[in-house]
Amino acid sequence: MKIMLTLLLSALCAFAFEIGNGKSLILTLDDSHGVLELNDRNITVLPHPLYPKKGIAIIPIDYHEHPHLINAQWTTPDETIALEFNVTSATYPTEVITVDHAKVSPPPEVLERIALEKAEAEAIYNHITPKRYWNKPFIRPIDSITTSQYGSARTYNGVLKSYHGGVDFRAKTPLPILASNDGVVVLVKERYYAGGTVIIDHGEGVYSCYFHLSQFNVKVGDPVIQGQNIALSGATGRITGPHLHFGFMLQGIQSDPIEFMAQIETLFTQSRIMVYNSKKSPIL
Ligand SMILES: [Zn+2]
Repeated sequence: MKIMLTLLLSALCAFAFEIGNGKSLILTLDDSHGVLELNDRNITVLPHPLYPKKGIAIIPIDYHEHPHLINAQWTTPDETIALEFNVTSATYPTEVITVDHAKVSPPPEVLERIALEKAEAEAIYNHITPKRYWNKPFIRPIDSITTSQYGSARTYNGVLKSYHGGVDFRAKTPLPILASNDGVVVLVKERYYAGGTVIIDHGEGVYSCYFHLSQFNVKVGDPVIQGQNIALSGATGRITGPHLHFGFMLQGIQSDPIEFMAQIETLFTQSRIMVYNSKKSPIL
């Protein structure tokens, strides 16, 4: 039995953590301090929501990243530990969409508006509030089927324009949209592409986004609690029909919302948590 356990641990030691492009990985660590240094950025280790002496690191990978190996270091107050992350190519479908010509090639008079809206959103997403507002798993903002998943490569009127940065929920008639978790409202606005938009700051670089809304029930600065009715769904912005677009930004990176929520839920539901410990081996 002891030999089997040793073999299992040596197999696990050789394991590089895998993360698909557009996905995120939430790593549980045996210390709630320190910084994870990746090639191009540093990620602060945060306390685990249930076991505050343990840590979590939320590692989002941009959709446009190609497969490669990231050699990372986790620097705790006591030591530095090497970690490997293998960025893999996730599989996403292609969607062909036909919309009003002006929404694909916007007229010159709206280009400044689009640029300002983009800069405003980026400034919000890149700000990391050093506080956690939530203490339970995130919920879906509407009880409905999904009609388009995150990551689909999108061709608008025959031209490949973008990928789908969130998940779409069916909402044929205006329906209440619920806050996915506790937080503070940081943007309420009618935008060119996203239409009626609400963005909620959940702290620590986590933002949830709700697009194409027809009515707002909150304003900037409002604290919200999970399940609060923040808006009504609609069909505003670049859209083929009424629905809710729901997304997450993690440390300024657009990430698969369904996968992110599932990983957060796991932090609360696993009876025995898997921890990456400072002896360089995952333990159960
Ligand atoms: Zn969408």
